[in-house]
Amino acid sequence: MIAYANELVTDPIEFEPYAGKLRLTYKKPKVGDWIKAPSAKSWEPGILRARIRDLRDHPAKRGPERMKKLHVRRQWRCMDKLLCQVCAHPAADPVSGLMSWLLPATAFERTGPQSGRTNAPPTCWGCIPKAMEECPMLLSSVSLCTVKQVRPAGVLADMYRPGLLRTLEPTGLNVFVAWDDYQRHRYALATSQVIELHGMRSVA
Ligand SMILES: [Zn+2]
Repeated sequence: MIAYANELVTDPIEFEPYAGKLRLTYKKPKVGDWIKAPSAKSWEPGILRARIRDLRDHPAKRGPERMKKLHVRRQWRCMDKLLCQVCAHPAADPVSGLMSWLLPATAFERTGPQSGRTNAPPTCWGCIPKAMEECPMLLSSVSLCTVKQVRPAGVLADMYRPGLLRTLEPTGLNVFVAWDDYQRHRYALATSQVIELHGMRSVA
């Protein structure tokens, strides 16, 4: 889940005219840069997703871990498929169907008595000890719960607005942008996917 130094990409971004408005784009766009909202109409451009390399299987090339950087595509895949962030196997318990979730306080926002939003992927029961060991900062502020269901919620994004002469100005880091908040999609560079957890129960 953590990105390695040489996986980080700093390709330049800019605003471009799109359907009568401006939207954020990489200067040299590639197919797959934009991610569609789950409920999007076909004409919605989607959200620009931050690029990243995948060098996990190349220890000689990947460089040191960058503890504060999530790997964008690995995080996305874990959320789409509900895979354990440590072993990448399905996180749901095969018997109960419940998913186990380690929730750092900084990556969780409560939305109801048994629900909340997070960009932390699930952790299967087998990997919970390892996850706690590898990430000691988790210990002080983490809660462990089971989750019945999840729903797509949106993304965390770095936000920009057009400046003078085709420049851009940052306006916020790690801002939550909901999938149905279409007006803000064109100003967002998504760095992780956020889902809403339902039927949460804390595990003592
Ligand atoms: Zn696991």
